[in-house]
Amino acid sequence: MSPLLQSAVAIGVDIGGTSTKTAVVGEGPSVLKRRQLPMDSTETPAAVVEKLSVMLRELQTECGDTRLPVGIGCAGLVDSQSGVVRTSPNLPAWRNVPLVKMLSRELGIAAVLDNDANVFSIAEGLYGAARDSRHAVFMTLGTGVGGGLKLDGEIYTGSCGFAGEIGHITVDPDGPVCSCGSRGCLESFVGSARIVQRARMLIEEEGKQQEWLAFGIASLDELSAKDVGRAARDKNDIAVRVFEEIGEYIGIAVASVVNLLNPDIIVIGGGVSNVGAPLFQAVRAAVTRRAMGPSSECVKIEPAKLGEDAGVIGAAMKAAGIQEG
Ligand SMILES: [Zn+2]
Repeated sequence: MSPLLQSAVAIGVDIGGTSTKTAVVGEGPSVLKRRQLPMDSTETPAAVVEKLSVMLRELQTECGDTRLPVGIGCAGLVDSQSGVVRTSPNLPAWRNVPLVKMLSRELGIAAVLDNDANVFSIAEGLYGAARDSRHAVFMTLGTGVGGGLKLDGEIYTGSCGFAGEIGHITVDPDGPVCSCGSRGCLESFVGSARIVQRARMLIEEEGKQQEWLAFGIASLDELSAKDVGRAARDKNDIAVRVFEEIGEYIGIAVASVVNLLNPDIIVIGGGVSNVGAPLFQAVRAAVTRRAMGPSSECVKIEPAKLGEDAGVIGAAMKAAGIQEG
């Protein structure tokens, strides 16, 4: 047993579509050890839980504590109180999976579960961009838009655990139908699929196909949100416009949240936010224009700090019962 692993606080699990990350997390926070479990969408939840519990038991044994707490973050509609994954965009075959019950039975300890945006909020609120803030709003931008809240120094989850769904604020009453059943939600205007769709539309309209193929993209059919982000960082006109457009939509939703909660910081993370300046400038400009003066003057809009470790760190801290700084 390594002496380093004896300082472990908990194990964090970040369930993803292609791989599930696990990490032994110590105070600080420090990631003391990592393991990855490849995910196969054809596998049943029971098969995944079995493999995951073998990995977790090995990690607990290496840490010299077979009762080391385990926390799990998972994208999608997750009921943290009952420990059930209702649906997850990463795991289309998972419907109403009692993940906590299944895993706890295997491990002999009570695991905890929350959605990926909430564990991101715990991590960024404790150790990241909002560590010195008492009133923070968190957003993750990727396939979908996740959100979380830290109010008066505490993570706020609402009456039944579903607070902070910024992605489902209406930004256009006549917009497209959203996965939640409503219409014109923020998520349908800024998710990665929308970024690709808008970029492709503008490239075709303006006849810029050759310019984009020269940019190292094999075909426009294979264009990804990451490619559009890379092009925006290289100041490509169409890509910059796409991110200005999504920044405006994010700003519309954030301005309402700023008026409602008067937070000191909005922390934005997730793959789509890696584009940096073109997005953040557009969001800041829209919030300045749309939110009420005094609230907009005292809010900072900043990128997340913990990168891809936020999920495992937040999940581990939730399991260890450390949620407030
Ligand atoms: Zn929605």
